[in-house]
Amino acid sequence: LDGYFKNLRNITLTLHGIPYLLCILTYIAVSISACDRLKEHSVPIGKDGEGVVSVTGGPVRMSSVCTLTFEYQTGPSGIDTGGGIHFIVSPYWGWSRPQVSDPMQPGFVRMEHSTDAEISISSTRIDSIRLIVTRGRIEKDERITLIYGSLTGESGAALTDRFSESAQEFIFKSDADGDGQFAMINEQPVVNVLPGQPTQLLVTCNSECAVNEYCRVHVAVLDYNFNWVRDWQGTVIVTAGESFEPISRTTTYLGLEESHLEFKAVQSGISHFRVTAEGMKTGVPLLGRSNPVYVHPDKVKLRLYWGDIHGHSVLSDGTGTPEDYYLYGRDVSGLDFTALTDHDSWGFRPLLDVLPMYVSEGNRFNEPGRFTVLLGYEWTQWTDGHRNVYAPGSTLTVYSQSDSRYNTPSELSEALRSSGALIIPHHLGGGPIPFNLEYNDPELYRVAEIASVHGVSETYGNDRCIYNAVPNGFYRDALKRGYEWGIIASSDSHDGHPGLRTQGREVRGTVAVRAEELNRKSILAAIQNRQSYGSTGARIYIEFSINGHSMGSKIHLERETERSVTAMVIGEGDLERISLIKNGAVVKRFYGQDNLCHIQWIDSSPHSRKDWYYLKVRQMDGEEAFTSPIWIQCPNVSRK
Ligand SMILES: [Zn+2]
Ligand SMILES: [Zn+2]
Repeated sequence: LDGYFKNLRNITLTLHGIPYLLCILTYIAVSISACDRLKEHSVPIGKDGEGVVSVTGGPVRMSSVCTLTFEYQTGPSGIDTGGGIHFIVSPYWGWSRPQVSDPMQPGFVRMEHSTDAEISISSTRIDSIRLIVTRGRIEKDERITLIYGSLTGESGAALTDRFSESAQEFIFKSDADGDGQFAMINEQPVVNVLPGQPTQLLVTCNSECAVNEYCRVHVAVLDYNFNWVRDWQGTVIVTAGESFEPISRTTTYLGLEESHLEFKAVQSGISHFRVTAEGMKTGVPLLGRSNPVYVHPDKVKLRLYWGDIHGHSVLSDGTGTPEDYYLYGRDVSGLDFTALTDHDSWGFRPLLDVLPMYVSEGNRFNEPGRFTVLLGYEWTQWTDGHRNVYAPGSTLTVYSQSDSRYNTPSELSEALRSSGALIIPHHLGGGPIPFNLEYNDPELYRVAEIASVHGVSETYGNDRCIYNAVPNGFYRDALKRGYEWGIIASSDSHDGHPGLRTQGREVRGTVAVRAEELNRKSILAAIQNRQSYGSTGARIYIEFSINGHSMGSKIHLERETERSVTAMVIGEGDLERISLIKNGAVVKRFYGQDNLCHIQWIDSSPHSRKDWYYLKVRQMDGEEAFTSPIWIQCPNVSRK
């Protein structure tokens, strides 16, 4: 109980972040749902939770209006006087609030029944409707109909969600015996939300390969809200840059099975793929261009892989099923690896209630060499900050912050000690709850999330800085404390669009790692070894080393020697500048030509006994990327 009030207190603080009002309203709505859980259960208990519900009126289209009719049939116990039904509409992402006060306003709910009981109907919460039997009782197998978006007037229809998904849940809870305890019914009714008209192409490809190897190109047709138009059909022409053969390929696009094509590299260099797609129905061509691919003359030992390892599904406070999430990450965003990190205890139900399905869906999509799924969850504690936890294998134990044994960072660490798991701090420096930098654990905390949909957490006051910023709580402040944290970025997406490069001006977040192979073990090890960098969304290619040691390394120098900084950056767009940060300050700026920059520079600025360096890349369009640092220790330097 204490925890839930703590939630509410922290949520009130976030009200200062006006631009994030929608997000905050959602959080408030969820925290109210969380409060509901004080009296209501997510699984049937005794007679409560009886009943079955069917729905008609779906599927619906995203960002449109709908009328949905829910028919609730009572279970064997019926409903006694004082008992009732609770109907909850998702507070995410655009559904009209259900209401009973004004039939001319969106989301009006009308009740119909022919039972002998007297039933009151009221909107008691911002996202829900409550029916209470005030006189008599409802017998078993009787029916009550709720019409959401009842068309008394045109405007009484309900607005739908902005994001498509295969199974939007509408939540029903019931109290059969009238004791005030409601429990969720066994199977909630679901409605498909369809995407809008196709308006854009997303084209992604591997960032590097070698001559004689194949480069995979993903093509996806999206609507204006970045929803995947999965049933799109038409002709796609892919034109490869000069490093590849054949130069151009035309294919009839049949959806899922052909969402990617492979092109063989024939000569080294930097290339792109250009795509034209012409739909059968509209005939309006859509144009797209991929990120750059760097073709090496020879095979490379470590390969660059792109991922997004932070996002939510309908199982906590996001949109879409786990299957929707993995399909989008694999076939739309063209990610090499991903992780779904639903909240342990935030949203409609605790993660533990759905854990077997959550884990088996992750394992089903994990395909070594093709698409890696790390199993994880978000430890959602509202005093010291959120952390994502990743398991090393195919099983996942959730140490939930709502369990009094694991509700402090130290208890979480002790539970995970020597397990091979990884903990990643997120939204440092602000957001809904800033991360408490007092806490570190060198075994488990190896990297931090530097950018997500909440903004950039690099340093106080930087561009597109995280909202509700608090000084001294940023990534750079962690390094100043001596923490040896590398860098990742990931979206924290709640819209079912993991790995999407950009969405307007919003910061998103993707992570690049250099790994030997594309599988769980190799990807997780690469992150633990800080062979990673974070981007605000663009697939910027970066190599960065000092004296031949790559990003994430710790170098021990017996005596002071020359420090040779080497880097290569290939932007997705034109580069504005590249800053080399040393011990928290810019020590040198570099400017490339167009989207390319080669760096070869000797650092002759004063050194300390322990120095740290990282690169910050900025494109003309504002997109940024940050490399994991390189630490250099040299005991003979006089300065501390
Ligand atoms: Zn979070
Ligand atoms: Zn999250």
